Formats: sequence, C-alpha cells, structure tokens
Amino acid sequence: MNIHEYQAKAVLKEFGLPVSKGVAIFKPEEAEAAAKELGGPVWVVKSQIHAGGRGKGTFKGAPAGAKGGVRVTKSLDEVKQFAGEMLGQTLVTIQTGEAGKQVNRLYIEEGAQIEAEFYLSMLVDRETGRVAYVVSTEGGMDIETVAHDTPEKIVTFSVDPATGVMPHHGRLVAKTLGLSGAQAKEAGDLTTKLYAAFTAKDMSMLEINPLVLTGDGHLKCLDAKISFDSNALYRHPDIVALRDETEEDAKEIEASKYDLAYIALDGTIGCMVNGAGLAMATLDIIKLYGEEPANFLDVGGGASEEKVTAAFKIITADPQVKGILVNIFGGIMKCDVIANGVIAAVKAVGLQVPLVVRLEGTNVEKGKEIIRNSGLNVIPADDLDDAAQKIVAAVKKG
Ligand code: GDP
Ligand code: MN
Repeated sequence: MNIHEYQAKAVLKEFGLPVSKGVAIFKPEEAEAAAKELGGPVWVVKSQIHAGGRGKGTFKGAPAGAKGGVRVTKSLDEVKQFAGEMLGQTLVTIQTGEAGKQVNRLYIEEGAQIEAEFYLSMLVDRETGRVAYVVSTEGGMDIETVAHDTPEKIVTFSVDPATGVMPHHGRLVAKTLGLSGAQAKEAGDLTTKLYAAFTAKDMSMLEINPLVLTGDGHLKCLDAKISFDSNALYRHPDIVALRDETEEDAKEIEASKYDLAYIALDGTIGCMVNGAGLAMATLDIIKLYGEEPANFLDVGGGASEEKVTAAFKIITADPQVKGILVNIFGGIMKCDVIANGVIAAVKAVGLQVPLVVRLEGTNVEKGKEIIRNSGLNVIPADDLDDAAQKIVAAVKKG
C-alpha cells in the first residue's frame, strides 16, 4: 500500500526525522490560510498523487512550457493561483503513464533553501532478506537514470537484522554523501531513525529523493515516498487509515475487503482461480491459446460462498472482460461450494459474457450437478486445457 508524500512526511516526523512544515489542502480556497499559517517567505505548492516525477510533470491541457506539479514561489498570490491551476487537473509524469493522475490534494510547504540534493532509499532486499539502503550524491533525479548512466555513484548496503542498524552504517552514508563533522553526525542520526521508522511500520520501500543539505547546513527530507507491506497492515490501523482509495484500482480495493488476491491486468478473460500456482498456470494457458487474461483472482484455499460471489461480481463489473473462466481445484475448498457461489453470483449480477467452468477435486460431481441443474448458460469443461480452449474460442467468437 502506498501513501501520499504529506502523509509519509508525517510518519517520518513521528520518528524525529527532519521535514519541512506543511499543510495539506483539498480545495483552492484553503490555499491562502495554509500559506499564511506557514508564514513564508517561500512556499512550495506540491501536487499529491501516488507517483513521482511531479516536478517535471505537465498538466493535461496546460499551455506548453507551463510549470509542473511542484512549484516554488515567494508570492502569496501565486500560491493561490497555483492551487487553482493544480487541483482537479490531471498531472502526467514519467511514472503515471499517458493517462496521468487527477490531483485531489495539495501540500503547501515552507520552502527550503537547497545547497545540495542527495538520494537515499531503503527497501527489503529479496536476495539477502535484509533491509538495504541505497545512497547516492545524485539526488533530485530519477535513480534509474543514475543507475544506468553513472552506477558508480550509487552505494548500497544491507543491515543484519540481528544487530539492527549500527553506527558504521551511518558513517558509510555520511562518507558516501561527502559529509563530515556535525553534518556527518546528522547523517548518522538520520540513518538510525529511518531504520526505526522502516521496521516499526513494516515498510517495504522508503525513498527520500531529494534528501537535501539546506542553506543553514542541515539535512532535510524534501520528498518522501513510502510503500507498506500489505501483509503487515493488520497491525497498523494508523497506516490503513491513510489509504487513499481514489489512487487505487476500485476492483482491487473491493477484493481486499473480502481477502481475495486480485490483480487487474490488461486482457479480456476474467479468471477466478484458487491458489496462486493454479492462477499462474491459468494465465499461461490463456496466453498459449492466444488471448490475454483480464485479471489474476485467487479466492484462496478456504473460500466461502460469499467470497466466491464477491469475486465473481468483481470480475463481471470489469467492462474489459469478454469472457470468464472459473478454474477451481477443490481440495479444502469444495466444488459444490464453488458451484453455489458461482450460481448465486450469476443470479445476482447477470451474465453478459460466456462463462466456462472447470471444476476438479472434492465433491466435483455434486458441483457439476449444481451447475447443470441451474438452467444457466454455463459451458462445462473437463480439464484445464479444454477449459482454456473453450473460453478463448468463445471470446474470439463474441
Ligand atoms: P518529484 O518531482 O515528484 O520527485 O517531487 P519532489 O518533491 O522531489 O520535488 C521536485 C523538485 O522540486 C525537487 O527535486 C527540488 O529540486 C524542488 N523542490 C521541492 N521542494 C523544494 C523546496 O522547498 N525548495 C526548493 N528550492 N526547491 C524545492
Ligand atoms: Mn522527488
């Protein structure tokens, strides 16, 4: 799960990390009060979307050369003007794709004077199974670009979970950034506090780009991007409360309410499957027969009829879906429960597209019978291969 920059900065502040003062606003009318509260003399008006590259981004329909999604100004009138120009508009950045993202929130910040811009991020490194730091003097730009052009300017190291973060890690950060004396001490302090925040909140990624050296010689987190480990959200209600559903795929949110593993894809065939392995195999075989899956939906091992119904509704609600393939291996999950769920869902939401059902495993005969006797236009299939060919054929015909 991702959160906005202003929310990420509030989390960092909780852990004693240096961030600028700021006020989040939702309406242009709120800009003036926010700016006055901060006092100036320099303000930064920052579009809040779940994507980076805002500074160099452009608003749809804005005249060529118009300023981006992050603007620095010394004028109170401009703060108001910028707020009016940004809120409600669609910001396109290298990370949003062409469609862009609508800006529904702004963060007005007190402006910092920048002496130097650095890069610092943390992530869970799958190879070592440890929390790793990525540090570079090349801040303010895309780290992928730095990695491509000047990889020698990136230093990475990981932390042994048994010891946690150590003073030498902080010294390495300071050395990498070319800091000494009091500033090196600040870098050490920052390194330690970031580790505390990262582990306490079960983050999967934390990126500060840029981390800056201010005019008065202090370090400050000028931008912050945080992703949290979804599997640990149950123990962080404060983080869950920060969720901005307008930034997420509506179907994925609905799925998460029912504890369904759902991922939207670009194709035409909606898949309801149990178990991630079977889901992968199903996606593969659909591609093999020349179509693309519209989603990855895993109802899990012990799905109830209610869960199956919810899953089915999510799939049928997607206008991209031109056909549905239900592919279930009933182990713990019984085929008759699946069948009842599918029938209940079809009755509730209707069926506008072909539906192929392949059931196997526990109570398979009972399940097939329920589907046969339902009077619904369901195409039965014997095995995975048969099922995939039938749904692909049905979609191509439709
Ligand atoms: P991003 O483009 O989405 O990564 O947004 P950032 O928050 O990183 O802002 C983009 C750029 O705006 C930064 O790299 C800075 O150069 C500039 N910027 C952001 N905040 C300030 C500030 O307080 N003062 C000044 N002078 N520049 C800022
Ligand atoms: Mn940034």
